[in-house]
Amino acid sequence: MLVEQTFVGDGASGRNGGFLSSSLTHGETNGDYYFPGEKDRLDELGQQNLKEYIESLNRYGIDADYENVGVTSVATNDAMAAQLRKQYEAEKAAGRDVVWFDREAMQREVKSPTYMAGLWRRGDHDGVIHPGRLCWGLKKTILSLGVRIFEGTPVKDLKPDGDGMRTVCDGGTVRSDKVLMATNGFRSPLSQIRKSVIPVWDYQLATEPLSEEQLEAIGWGKTRHALSNEANMFHYYRMTSDNRITWGGGGTVCYFYGSRTDQGVADDRARFEQLSREFLETFPQLEGVKFTHRWSGIIASSTRFCMVPGTAFNGRVSWAVGYTGLGVGATRFGARVGLELLGYQPSDILDMLFVKKKAMNWVPEPLRWIGVTLTRHALIKADANGGKRGLWLKLLDFFHMGFAC
Ligand SMILES: Cc1cc2nc3c(=O)[nH]c(=O)nc-3n(C[C@H](O)[C@H](O)[C@H](O)COP(=O)(O)OP(=O)(O)OC[C@H]3O[C@@H](n4cnc5c(N)ncnc54)[C@H](O)[C@@H]3O)c2cc1C
Repeated sequence: MLVEQTFVGDGASGRNGGFLSSSLTHGETNGDYYFPGEKDRLDELGQQNLKEYIESLNRYGIDADYENVGVTSVATNDAMAAQLRKQYEAEKAAGRDVVWFDREAMQREVKSPTYMAGLWRRGDHDGVIHPGRLCWGLKKTILSLGVRIFEGTPVKDLKPDGDGMRTVCDGGTVRSDKVLMATNGFRSPLSQIRKSVIPVWDYQLATEPLSEEQLEAIGWGKTRHALSNEANMFHYYRMTSDNRITWGGGGTVCYFYGSRTDQGVADDRARFEQLSREFLETFPQLEGVKFTHRWSGIIASSTRFCMVPGTAFNGRVSWAVGYTGLGVGATRFGARVGLELLGYQPSDILDMLFVKKKAMNWVPEPLRWIGVTLTRHALIKADANGGKRGLWLKLLDFFHMGFAC
């Protein structure tokens, strides 16, 4: 039985950029930093997860506009280009399927006056999907497999009941042996989850379908790269099947005091205007293009910047939350970990640091807002200074408290 407070796809899963990545840890460097010695195993599990993900799409006939285009990172200044080149050399030496674009080569792929270089990580199965279609396809599939879905049914509380659980919802109570919580960045009824994730807002725009002339002006469309830049506050953007560009991230990503998740911050006009300005800095050739859609969503950020699993009530409740902006692929693995923690086909994955190591909790307000806001401003400043990290970021690095990239 699936209990959902609004409707399937209303959370981040129906609103994301659709970048499908094999990484379970928000990048290899971040994974290595928090779970030393598990790099190879996590890589293997991530690849296996994505392989099975695509097999499931095929098996159940879910048409989610999957395109196996990998991800292309672009450098927009010399320091980034040098850093990206180093990554290319290391990944090439490790046998990865990577392609280097110098400035001219990158411009032949996609034209932007801001691009200095690019690194195309073709990956095995990495690419893009249409998040809404994925959610609708999964909903149809689980209904056909006999799962009952209760939408418009917020979970208010969880209580032990004999050797099972009582899940108290608006409109009724569910009695079950086990419960898997997948509330991600939303306010959870469990305090352990509330302490381990904070809601960070991310905003997106989509253009009208581009004309032949507009496509020609940016040269994008031959390889349909899924693009992101190498800044701390990075943009991520891709083409849809009808040749729109969706554009998100950048300086608009924000945490609001008190973990706000209301409509007032969801539809913040100033942030959409900022996003459109940032879009036109990258593609001035598209001046005049219409943005036909805007939306926002909640990213659940954990202090280790990737999934946090856990259990409560003697293992009758488990969770996997906190994918920090890279959960399209990783949530499938999170579900596996959550089920294993409940005792369904447990494997050696449960012995990994990735599962066993406790994530640090977020500090309470007002320190939480002060810390996150200081960090956000420091990251924006570092981006403006060619990546040079200031005192605050160096302090976080010293205490191993930052995002390792
Ligand atoms: C704008 C944006 C862009 C992103 N882009 C990418 C990307 O390109 N690639 C990538 O890998 N990741 C991306 N992400 C992150 C990714 O979307 C998430 O990590 C992933 O979708 C999380 O899935 P989830 O099922 O854990 O949570 P969600 O999809 O957020 O689902 C949680 C669900 O729980 C429900 N819920 C919450 N509380 C309750 C309750 N008390 N009772 C009942 N139901 C409840 C919510 O209504 C919601 O439907 C992006 C996120 C955002 C917001």
